[in-house]
Amino acid sequence: MAVPPTAPTPARRIRKVLVANRGEIAIRIFRAATELGMGTVAVYSHEDRLSLHRYKADEAYLVGKGRGPIDAYLGIDELIALAREKDVDAIHPGYGFLSENPDFAERVEAAGLVFVGPTAEQQRRLGDKVAGRKAALEAGVPVVPGTDGPIAHEEEALLFAKTHGYPLIVKAAAGGGGRGMRVARDRRELLEGLASARSEARASFGNATVFLERFLERPKHIEVQVLGDAHGHLVHFFERDCSIQRRHQKVVEQAPAPGLAPALREAICAAALKIAGLVRYRSAGTCEFLLDREGRFYFIEMNPRIQVEHTVTEMITGRNLVQAQLRIAEGATLAELGMPDQRAIEARGHAIQCRVTTEDPQNGFMPDTGTLKAYRSPGGAGVRLDAGSAFTGAVITPHYDSLLVKVSSWGLTLDEASRIMHRCLQEFRIRGVKTNIPFLENVITHPDFLAGRCDTSFIDEHPELRE
Ligand code: ADP
Repeated sequence: MAVPPTAPTPARRIRKVLVANRGEIAIRIFRAATELGMGTVAVYSHEDRLSLHRYKADEAYLVGKGRGPIDAYLGIDELIALAREKDVDAIHPGYGFLSENPDFAERVEAAGLVFVGPTAEQQRRLGDKVAGRKAALEAGVPVVPGTDGPIAHEEEALLFAKTHGYPLIVKAAAGGGGRGMRVARDRRELLEGLASARSEARASFGNATVFLERFLERPKHIEVQVLGDAHGHLVHFFERDCSIQRRHQKVVEQAPAPGLAPALREAICAAALKIAGLVRYRSAGTCEFLLDREGRFYFIEMNPRIQVEHTVTEMITGRNLVQAQLRIAEGATLAELGMPDQRAIEARGHAIQCRVTTEDPQNGFMPDTGTLKAYRSPGGAGVRLDAGSAFTGAVITPHYDSLLVKVSSWGLTLDEASRIMHRCLQEFRIRGVKTNIPFLENVITHPDFLAGRCDTSFIDEHPELRE
């Protein structure tokens, strides 16, 4: 008999979880799983054979032989075959790589394994930016004025520009990590932007679909963490402010959003629940919004996965989102996780996360590579570190993104959290490879940051932060 789509998924114990990812997020997931008494399996590419995540799991297997550093982590058949061979019950995709590929989720479940994340159907309805806009409108949530669907011809784009005016932003439907996006302030930039966004999107995501939005000047980026179980229950964990960005990519994130009026906070969180509720969203996800200078908010996209910056939400709520993902994948209800309703989620204090990267701020943020001749990290009260391969002797290769370690600080106020963060950044001793630490120090001690005034143009408008 067919199971109705709303029926609870049968409870299924996860004894062993494979993480189809690398670096800090793989280690983060191993830690969560180990604390829940689950066994852990790492996969690693040839290029990652000395990386730390390989050694942080109970078992580790080389994958993607001869396929190159990135593709090694994208071999769906190989990962599923390995999981079955090693008696794995569940696969966690982390972020990036296969985490937003609905075919992967589908294949994992079809193989009788548990996919730790939303269903393929939920990913399809919300993961793609064009589909996500449609869903938001259906849920009655405002989106940035834009084209209803993909742009097929240049004439459509020019017509939209004529009606709505400039500036505009060309965005890839499948975009992520700030790629496949071009701001256009006139006709020439629009035509160029369409072509270059398309080719970048095709190269990066294998999908050249683009659409247009009005480009909002100096908005704040506010996002809401949501969590649903497989039984239709849904809660949010308040918001994060991720306005400090470089090239549309987050650099410093914090929770809660400073200066957000309580009624506006409530409205944004309610909007996120409406969108996620539309599909009875399962697992952890994030609804992203832009907040303009007049206090209006617009949905931009939903990320159907755990995010890099989930740490700050964990710090202010005291909840473990990755463990919640694993338990939900086993069929647990939110009530069983101690969250019978929204009132169970409380926030306290302020948390900040800095992404320490091996980039040289004085040289256009060029990624640096080499051996870490020395690595000493900070610690102490109110500090959390999530690192991939950060240790004395580690080799930083050019094959992956340049994230070295995430540092998060918690204090009762923004001011206190910033002081702890500043102290942490000063406490680091990293030799052999350049990092963005001096730049991060400038950001988090800037008067605009301390006053909670920063919007998404902050870094561009303050070139002196790089000195
Ligand atoms: P990605 O999926 O690549 O992260 P997003 O759609 O989440 O892309 O956008 C990333 C960032 O780009 C936003 O946080 C914001 O700073 C900027 N951005 C995106 N859309 C707009 C817009 N319509 N107006 C102004 N800035 C935008």
